[in-house]
Amino acid sequence: MIDFRSDTVTRPNAKMRQAMADADVGDDVYGDDPTVNALESWAAKRHGFAAAIFCSSGTQANLLGLMGHCERGDEYLCGQQAHNYRFEGGGAAVLGSIQPQPIENEKDGTLAFDKLRGAIKPIDPHFARTRLLSLENTINGKVLPLDYLAQAREFVDKHDLKLHLDGARVYNAASALDVDIVEIAKHFDSMTICLSKGLAAPIGSLLLGSEELIAKARRWRKVLGGGMRQAGILAAAAEIALKEHPEKLAQDHENARYLGKRLNEVPGFEVKLEHIQTNMVFAKVSRDIELKVLAEKLKAKNILITPSAPMRLVTHADVQQGDIDTFISELTAQLPAVL
Ligand SMILES: *Cc1c(COP(=O)(O)O)cnc(C)c1O
Repeated sequence: MIDFRSDTVTRPNAKMRQAMADADVGDDVYGDDPTVNALESWAAKRHGFAAAIFCSSGTQANLLGLMGHCERGDEYLCGQQAHNYRFEGGGAAVLGSIQPQPIENEKDGTLAFDKLRGAIKPIDPHFARTRLLSLENTINGKVLPLDYLAQAREFVDKHDLKLHLDGARVYNAASALDVDIVEIAKHFDSMTICLSKGLAAPIGSLLLGSEELIAKARRWRKVLGGGMRQAGILAAAAEIALKEHPEKLAQDHENARYLGKRLNEVPGFEVKLEHIQTNMVFAKVSRDIELKVLAEKLKAKNILITPSAPMRLVTHADVQQGDIDTFISELTAQLPAVL
């Protein structure tokens, strides 16, 4: 299968599978798993944080970050398009009694400081207590500028808020900017990283932060049912993802630009190439094309796409340039049947 639906679909490579088979393990709820412990301490140091916790998913890592910073009746500011507002089942409210305050994202994915300022609540019993600003980088494939991150740090310091980064794809941002990951991480009080997206691990995310925040997160992770036992099996693959895959993301980004360019050759598809910053391609699709039918026909040819308009296509370690060529020729061949 050539799968363009997401970068979550990668399969663990041979080296990861071998490392999983060979992993030294223990009971991580007792703190006994040497592979998890090594991953957490390496990750904390590498990204400039005091501590880290290995989580089952990015959703869990974000929720633990929010529950670490906020108490019942507190509030976090975030984007209207933020994953931890729109796509995590309302977990902060459902499970943390934390109120989201979404702000319309600007075109480049940032949140305007005047709008954020206006949303901070006065200290008064009528209002939730605004505690945290949560940003996302990359957001819909877009990279937040480094100077914006510095301004966000200034903003939160001025308003006595904490700053969290949903960094599910933060390594894609670092790769696109061609900077060390620390140049992004250094602005934040906490940051999540998905190991199972572009970095290609089968399972797992990290939450990074202060000792105090991570201790609190560790308690909530157990409460949420996320205390895993011999989790070193997963951490072994995650470690390879984190250490070896960041440098491979540039290839995914190049493939995304190639995919965008090739899609522009197909009638009915239009990609703004200048909008491709990382591994996501958004194509405008002619209304004449029956997308659901197209997706089914491509599936019969072992190609998976999401039948949405605009259509989001994602490149990752399991998509090569030759696969893109195969996709474009199958797409062109199927078009007459779906008009
Ligand atoms: C995928 C994603 C998450 C959640 O990760 P899961 O592992 O799917 O729970 C969080 N934030 C962003 C921006 C994501 O893309």
